[in-house]
Amino acid sequence: MEQLKLSILGVSSAIPLSNRSPSAQFLAIGNAHFLIDCGEGTQVKLRQHRIGFGRIKHILISHLHGDHFYGLVPLLSSLQLLDRQAPLYIYGPAKLEEAVRQQLEITDSIISYPLHFKVLEASKKSLIFESDHLEVHSFPLRHGIECFGFLFQEKPLPLKMNKTELAKHSIPVAEIRRIKAGANWINPEGETIANEELTFPSEAPLSYAYVTDSLPVKHLHRVFKGIDLLYHEATFLSTEADRALKTHHSTAAQAAEIAEICKAQNLLIGHFSIRYKSLKPLLEEAAAHFANSHIAREGYAFTIDRKIRLLESEKENSYS
Ligand SMILES: [Zn+2]
Ligand SMILES: [Zn+2]
Repeated sequence: MEQLKLSILGVSSAIPLSNRSPSAQFLAIGNAHFLIDCGEGTQVKLRQHRIGFGRIKHILISHLHGDHFYGLVPLLSSLQLLDRQAPLYIYGPAKLEEAVRQQLEITDSIISYPLHFKVLEASKKSLIFESDHLEVHSFPLRHGIECFGFLFQEKPLPLKMNKTELAKHSIPVAEIRRIKAGANWINPEGETIANEELTFPSEAPLSYAYVTDSLPVKHLHRVFKGIDLLYHEATFLSTEADRALKTHHSTAAQAAEIAEICKAQNLLIGHFSIRYKSLKPLLEEAAAHFANSHIAREGYAFTIDRKIRLLESEKENSYS
């Protein structure tokens, strides 16, 4: 059964707490895996979530504030010590490679597995990864420094065949692939049988967007619309709206407004200021504007099954 599974490794803004870590998530859609941001301590969190390091092939870094990538060099170093051979792809702002290579050089660390850096396009939505089943795009956000969001979308699934109708029209096996892709069938007598007669609709593709460290971007609905799950930062409550504006962050209410504008099915809020000991008021503020709001609870995994289409969560971290 195909599903989207998002493990929340860290949701603290700026400073780690004893029970909150800086930003990091691990996303699995089908058999494609992505580490999204890599704050301090991410490799420990991966272990607590029992996510094997071998599953990490793509690391996406939103921006170069430390709470989003200070865990990267230690992770790369551990992969070397664990004798990684497989290539690793890292996507991020232009200066990320320099920041990483300098630390490796100064600490006399050699990485012998292939390390590929891909610079994200600062001005527009761009395709950064594609497989047979999935597309990943980056898109610019509005933060004090260059910052990116990421959109993960399954490709449209093939239509399902109506076997009764196939038999009725004696359709040759060689034609099935075209019909699954949406083609009509023209029989030997020259009659056209409409595709809708021969197929059932397929399930809608799964989708997820990651939006962190940004002022609200009102035109995000032009980047994605109707997605299953939106993670949006909610660093502050509305009572701190001035501070949010000054520091290029969003409030919980603003995160909810973006979820509404983008017609998201579910909203996860995160990247919380350490001033909030309880996250309940942040959730209440978001839920007042967008009913399907949830806290991105650290240590938990959120799943959406392609058939059932409900957001479910379960505790995954064995230590918190
Ligand atoms: Zn941050
Ligand atoms: Zn930041």
